[in-house]
Amino acid sequence: MWYRRAVSTSIASPAALTKELAAIVGPDAVVDARAALTVYECDGYTIERAVPELVVLPRTTDEVARVVRAAWRAGVPFVPRGAGTGLSGGCLANPAPLVICTSRMRTIRAIDLENRRLIAEAGVVNAEVSRAVRGAGLQYAPDPSSQNACTIGGNVAENSGGPHTLKYGVTTNHLLGVELVLPDGDVIPLGGVVDDGLGYDLTGVVCGAEGTMGIVTAATLRLVPLPEAVTTMLAVFATVAEATSTVSAIIGAGIVPAALEMMDRTIVSAVEAAFHFGFPTDAGAVLIIEIDGDAAGLDASATRIETLCREHGAASVRRAADEAERLALWKSRKRAFGAVGRLAPSYCTQDGVVPRTRLPEILERIEAASARHGLRIGNVFHAGDGNIHPIILYDERDPAESARALSAGREILLACLELGGSVTGEHGIGVEKMHELGVAFGPDDLTRMQQVRAVFDPEQRANPGKIFVTPGVCIEQRAPRRRAAL
Ligand SMILES: Cc1cc2nc3c(=O)[nH]c(=O)nc-3n(C[C@H](O)[C@H](O)[C@H](O)COP(=O)(O)OP(=O)(O)OC[C@H]3O[C@@H](n4cnc5c(N)ncnc54)[C@H](O)[C@@H]3O)c2cc1C
Repeated sequence: MWYRRAVSTSIASPAALTKELAAIVGPDAVVDARAALTVYECDGYTIERAVPELVVLPRTTDEVARVVRAAWRAGVPFVPRGAGTGLSGGCLANPAPLVICTSRMRTIRAIDLENRRLIAEAGVVNAEVSRAVRGAGLQYAPDPSSQNACTIGGNVAENSGGPHTLKYGVTTNHLLGVELVLPDGDVIPLGGVVDDGLGYDLTGVVCGAEGTMGIVTAATLRLVPLPEAVTTMLAVFATVAEATSTVSAIIGAGIVPAALEMMDRTIVSAVEAAFHFGFPTDAGAVLIIEIDGDAAGLDASATRIETLCREHGAASVRRAADEAERLALWKSRKRAFGAVGRLAPSYCTQDGVVPRTRLPEILERIEAASARHGLRIGNVFHAGDGNIHPIILYDERDPAESARALSAGREILLACLELGGSVTGEHGIGVEKMHELGVAFGPDDLTRMQQVRAVFDPEQRANPGKIFVTPGVCIEQRAPRRRAAL
């Protein structure tokens, strides 16, 4: 037996634990009133909700460790939480009744410009890291679209990416070490300040573990130089197939853009109606292509990309004339999800990934699912990464249509697996995709993964009921989700 479960799903003596935790963090950092607790009932994945019994907001690693130790003694499992912007239900207080929220741990402990390193506490908001070093010409590259709200602790737990993932990589590529509070309250450092640590890469194991190995209280992050110059282009195509083949051609030519985003006709029409950027509404698809780097070589790369676009059927390619036009272009892209609200009463966004050369096939499969279920599906996604976000339009007041939207979403995820991809590109498993994980991996693989988790958390005290289907914990998705994204 490699793990044992001795934990309770409710707090046996809530008054006693509340008192004990208040003595550690102070009464203003304990939430136990029902109305206030509802704030923590879900994250950005709002289909499932569970109001926690107790929430604590420690300010230091020592407070986190003492809170976790008290929970350990009381046999109470806990859920780590950052800003709650997660999109897969990772913060759901089910079955664990205690939420430990690191959002008040907002100190940047050290900035080491010479070695391009920074130590941020878990509650530091992602965008604050780059803001802190911009004056020195540096940045923290992982940039989730939620970067003005999400925290470094949440980014580490989800191994988050962003529009610039294509060139710069995801969180794990910029994470040198973490300070971790284990489920029994011990505090351990993992990794360090050098690039190549000794022994197993345990920092890499914790990154993406969705809070199931303990609470990250601080992270050592790598900083990279700000690019000297940036060029952003808009390429217009008659068909999605032409646009996707251009994506492969650009990467195949050895050019790695900073970002490579695609919108199809459904989305372009909605975005144009909402923001009047000047997109041609008869276009089958548009690509937004951004390259950055040394000013010297950038013009040649942009010209090469323009040629490739034309060779693959682009009706037009234009460069953003100035910073204002560049920002307007990105604004249109980033607000695409808001614009979709014009098209249908409800929509749900799926998050899957395929090898980028299989993009044409997955888009065909999406079209087939759309026809089969009689639903419109628009596409806006990080094409360079093969990370798709089909937006399924439906009417949630119609139960039959809602069920069809749910089926279409699941079929698309299974198609991603068939094409050699994965059921999540960046949002994690949480509670949302536990069943799909079981399709992606066999029982032996899942057992091995849980054995690794058990090294850190043998009693499943840290964020139980996430990632892996747990007997006795029932979380069933009843309707598609309507959610913001990306
Ligand atoms: C509009 C919008 C756009 C988004 N865009 C992107 C995007 O471009 N790329 C992307 O990858 N994601 C994106 N997301 C998803 C989300 O923002 C990321 O997953 C983010 O990293 C979550 O951070 P958080 O602080 O909100 O974490 P939370 O939502 O609070 O928690 C997420 C998970 O991390 C765990 N966790 C939180 N803090 C800790 C900690 N200190 N220690 C251990 N575990 C912890 C939780 O238990 C949970 O499992 C987007 C979300 C929204 C709403």
